[in-house]
Amino acid sequence: MAKIKHIETNEVHILKDSKTTRCGCNITEKPQCWENVGDNSKVTCSKNGCK
Ligand SMILES: [Zn+2]
Repeated sequence: MAKIKHIETNEVHILKDSKTTRCGCNITEKPQCWENVGDNSKVTCSKNGCK
């Protein structure tokens, strides 16, 4: 599963599809705030869907 990091909070989320995290964040609204990370990165988001 693909993962992505929110740069401002340094939280790593799981991607549901190319536009949304599993916890429901739309990453297309502020694409500059998100950074692709490797599959080995530890998920740190604690919201439902990502954890
Ligand atoms: Zn999340």
